[in-house]
Amino acid sequence: MNLYNSLTRAKDEFKTHTPGRVEMYTCGPTVYHYAHIGNLRSYIMEDVLEKYLRYDGYDVNRVMNITDVGHLTSDGDTGDDKMLKGAKREHKTVMEIAKFYTDAFFKDCEKLNIKRPDVIVPATSYIGEFIKVISALIEKGYAYEAGGNIYFDTSKLEKYYVFNDFSEEDLAVGVREGVEADGNKKNKTDFVLWFTKSKFEDQELKWDSPWGVGYPGWHIECSCISMKNNGEYLDLHCGGIDNAFPHHTNEIAQSESYLGHPWCPQWFHVHHLNTDSGKMSKSKGEFLTVSLLEQKGYDPLAYRFFCLQSHYRRSLVFSYENLDNAASAYQKLLQKIAQIEDSGEIDAEKYAALKAQFKAAMDNDLNTSLAVTALYDVLKSDLSGTGKLKLIKEFDSVLSLGLLSAAEKLKANAGEEDIPAEISELLEQRKAARKEKNFALADEIRAKIASMGYIVEETREGTKVRKG
Ligand code: AMP
Ligand code: ZN
Repeated sequence: MNLYNSLTRAKDEFKTHTPGRVEMYTCGPTVYHYAHIGNLRSYIMEDVLEKYLRYDGYDVNRVMNITDVGHLTSDGDTGDDKMLKGAKREHKTVMEIAKFYTDAFFKDCEKLNIKRPDVIVPATSYIGEFIKVISALIEKGYAYEAGGNIYFDTSKLEKYYVFNDFSEEDLAVGVREGVEADGNKKNKTDFVLWFTKSKFEDQELKWDSPWGVGYPGWHIECSCISMKNNGEYLDLHCGGIDNAFPHHTNEIAQSESYLGHPWCPQWFHVHHLNTDSGKMSKSKGEFLTVSLLEQKGYDPLAYRFFCLQSHYRRSLVFSYENLDNAASAYQKLLQKIAQIEDSGEIDAEKYAALKAQFKAAMDNDLNTSLAVTALYDVLKSDLSGTGKLKLIKEFDSVLSLGLLSAAEKLKANAGEEDIPAEISELLEQRKAARKEKNFALADEIRAKIASMGYIVEETREGTKVRKG
């Protein structure tokens, strides 16, 4: 497989430290609010990548953090504490907020068919690990104490800006207009590993440390959680493109200084979902969540389909019009699949050619939109129904659009639109009677429905009713 690597800025052949095994790390959500559908675009594409690697035969160990401490509104060390902001907004404790939004995140993931990572670690459960690594960084001369905080000293690195060749001036962190520069830093790119002195007097979560009571910076959590659960050699690190700098740049700085050797050779970044007025945000404009889409009548999997139709390295503009188009294409796709009859011999050659088309698309930098085209080509092909269904099942083990189950449901419900409300009502009553094992009543209701001109049938997919 060839995958674009932000480190080399090229499509590299995917390789792993241990043959056949992928150590994969994904930056998880900051759980101070619901995830917006932009955040979820990143998780959908990372899910497809993970599933494709498994499909390709790799054994994958996927690790994800949950940021419940340390993330400030600017990814540099300035601005408000996101978790505190969430707690204040809802008059709850930080831990209550963290629990609520962690659960909400995984519920959204479930609706979007995003698999749970193998290992999930909340940052607050790893304080001892952070202290261990920060202590080692101080000992090795990579970190210093200033004004009560511990900083990483970026001047100790041969190369700090690993992802791009921007000048230091362009990327100065924490000295944006209107934000006071942190006078404790020796270099403007230095970043906080441990806060003790901060403007957040009301910081709820604090822990004892060799440097005083305080809390960790945001970047250290991903380095520590990955090194502990993926081992010293990480194969693949994922996140949204905004994470590349400073977050991932700082992760590399810390991890490699701690380990004393290169850490992760492959970096996968998903580009942003934007609105037509710019970057998607939780505070400006309509707060687009999975629940909001559902309230508006969209199937969350139609949103997944919308994401798969475009390449992860292109920014994608969200509009209801675009989503409507995807939702109607998704419905049509399901209808076509629902019409396939499970019969006929499989022509092995045709089957292999269509499978190779899908694989070629995915092997070419995870080109999901061409993979979707391969799916349409299966439908258009003259492969037997059995062959088509088998290939759809195979492709969908990666795309996760719920194709076969949704098509089955469509089949089971086919024709129901024409059923009058009183018949549907009687069907519900009959269902309840059968559940209570009151078969006499169920039969009585069936007879009543028959007298109204409709026939009730029990099928493999459930109860069906049609005009007699
Ligand atoms: P956060 O909860 O802010 O830590 O972000 C969770 C993930 O969503 C990170 O990997 C971000 O890079 C990613 N992300 C943030 N905004 C967007 C966006 N508009 N489109 C796609 N991914 C995003
Ligand atoms: Zn991270």
